[in-house]
Formats: sequence, structure tokens, C-alpha cells
Amino acid sequence: GQGQSNYDLSFKILLVGDSAVGKSSLLVSFISNVVDDLSPTIGVDFKIKFLTVGEKRLKLTIWDTAGQERFRTLTSSYYRGAQGIILVYDVTRRDTFTNLSDVWAKELELYSTHEDCIKMLVGNKVDRESERVVSREEGITLAKELGCLFFECSAKTRQNVERCFEELALKIMEVP
Ligand code: GDP
Repeated sequence: GQGQSNYDLSFKILLVGDSAVGKSSLLVSFISNVVDDLSPTIGVDFKIKFLTVGEKRLKLTIWDTAGQERFRTLTSSYYRGAQGIILVYDVTRRDTFTNLSDVWAKELELYSTHEDCIKMLVGNKVDRESERVVSREEGITLAKELGCLFFECSAKTRQNVERCFEELALKIMEVP
């Protein structure tokens, strides 16, 4: 069979955002194709996923904050060399949405050294529609403001999870 070390391109992707928005769950959901136990996950550093987009075989190294975000700040080394950054909020918690512009986008600007870094805004937990407090329109508006791609998804049902990572990878590949 084809060895896992066989790939054309390698990208570093980061997940940022408030605690408990579902960053680890999104990562696990994307990596494992099954969501059995969505318990809070602390301590995940990064995971690797091989993905074929078009003709290219990609190696995605996706970093999770491992709970560091509790201190509301990540070290500059976390951001170094990232080609893609996913800003995650929880559609059922408005503070996680406002913190993206008030806290995370600012930190990102400070640290993200990669000029052509592709950013994506992700509203997670759309399976909890009845508890939603941040509308899709608000998400679209913020994404425009921050210059991000935009997706709403659910780590629980896996709705849009693969699509958002694939779309991000696709956009990174388009960077000259
Ligand atoms: P992190 O701190 O941002 O990494 O968040 P976690 O991945 O640890 O998730 C925090 C909590 O939200 C956990 O209890 C998860 O089970 C739950 N959760 C994560 N994603 C979803 C989702 O899409 N839908 C629902 N209903 N719950 C989710």
C-alpha cells in the first residue's frame, strides 16, 4: 500500500478560540471520521491527517491549543509557520463570538508571521439550533471584517467538518 510518508505538500493548521467552543472535538471529528464520545478533551497537541485534494496528497498537521487558551493567550511559537488558522466560536455562546474579534484576531495579527496565512471563521455546534444565539448572518459579517473564509459546522454530527478543512487546504494550495 501507499506509505503515510508519501505526500506532495505539508501544511500547518491551527485551531484558536475560547475554551469549550469545540476545537478539540472538531479535530477529533475530522481525524477519526467517527464521533463516539464527545467529552471535553484537554491536552491534545496536534494530529496529522493525510488528505488528497485534486491530484495532490497533503499532509495536514493540525494543532490544538491543549487548554492553553484558558489563559487567553498563546505563545508566539504556536503561531509560527502556520499556513492556515481556524478561528472557532460556539453559536450558542455569544461571548465566544465577540472574543474572536476582541481577543483572538488581535493576538493573531500580533503573532502570525506568515503573510499569506489563510484564515477561516467557524461557528460550531449548529446541531444545537434551538440554543443558537449567533446568527449565520452575523458570522458572515464578521468573516468579511476579519478577511476569513466562513463555515458553520457541528463536531458532533460532523456536518461540514470535512468540508471546512478541505476548503481551507484548497485555499492554502492556491497561495502562490
Ligand atoms: P475546546 O476546549 O475548544 O477544545 O472544546 P472541546 O472540544 O473540549 O468541547 C467542549 C464541549 O463542547 C465538550 O463537552 C464537547 O462534547 C462539546 N461539543 C464540542 N463540539 C460540539 C458540537 O458540535 N455540538 C455539541 N452539541 N457539542 C459539542
